[in-house]
Amino acid sequence: QSRTTSIVIPDDYTSYSLDDFCVPAHYYDDLKCVLLPKGLILDRVQRLAEDICHDISSPLVALCVLKGGYQFFTDLLDCIKNHNATSEKSFQMQVDFIKVKSYMNDQSTGVVNIMGSDNLASLKGKSILIVEDIIDTGNTMVKLLETIKKFEPKQVMVASLLLKRTKRSNGYRPNYTGFEIPDAFVVGYALDYNEYFRDLNHVCIINERGKKRYAA
Ligand code: 5GP
Repeated sequence: QSRTTSIVIPDDYTSYSLDDFCVPAHYYDDLKCVLLPKGLILDRVQRLAEDICHDISSPLVALCVLKGGYQFFTDLLDCIKNHNATSEKSFQMQVDFIKVKSYMNDQSTGVVNIMGSDNLASLKGKSILIVEDIIDTGNTMVKLLETIKKFEPKQVMVASLLLKRTKRSNGYRPNYTGFEIPDAFVVGYALDYNEYFRDLNHVCIINERGKKRYAA
């Protein structure tokens, strides 16, 4: 298998109607469309896990960026664990969790708040895989990488399910990317809007009604 880069979802992509998939009734009026159905996400996550397993041979600390990264983290690690359980080559994994907050409503506040970093001293000398939900401007990840590198890990890699195509980007690109998406605010598959929509399976685009209804 040759190495994949990312699946590029073009700006003129015809997203799916909400009626074509199962969407909770409590969110039906707050969403514009389904951008990435969960089934497609899971198949893509499996492929990312294969790439990661191909590249890694020494013990790894998988670092979940909460809260938005938890679903991707869970599904990715399930795939990696299955791979390790059935292939001749395997590597040990530890897990750790940090919380990062930089958004209010659908706007970046410009201030990145990293919580739980007291435990990061244990990352010294280890290979780290940061698992994140989405890279937008890239500012959060650049800041997070700066912080983590202060703890002298051996190697740091980043897997992000989504990478937004936006003029606001600082140019940062993760080592592993699921999908490159248009510049819209997406929710679901653990991504939130002011803590709502994490309980939605698919990655969907929120509409204006949803933004107003759940505004902070
Ligand atoms: P950045 O610093 O790259 O601009 O933003 C990274 C963080 O902003 C992500 O981890 C995520 O929490 C939040 N974010 C950026 N774009 C979106 C989006 O479209 N939907 C959601 N739910 N969160 C986003």
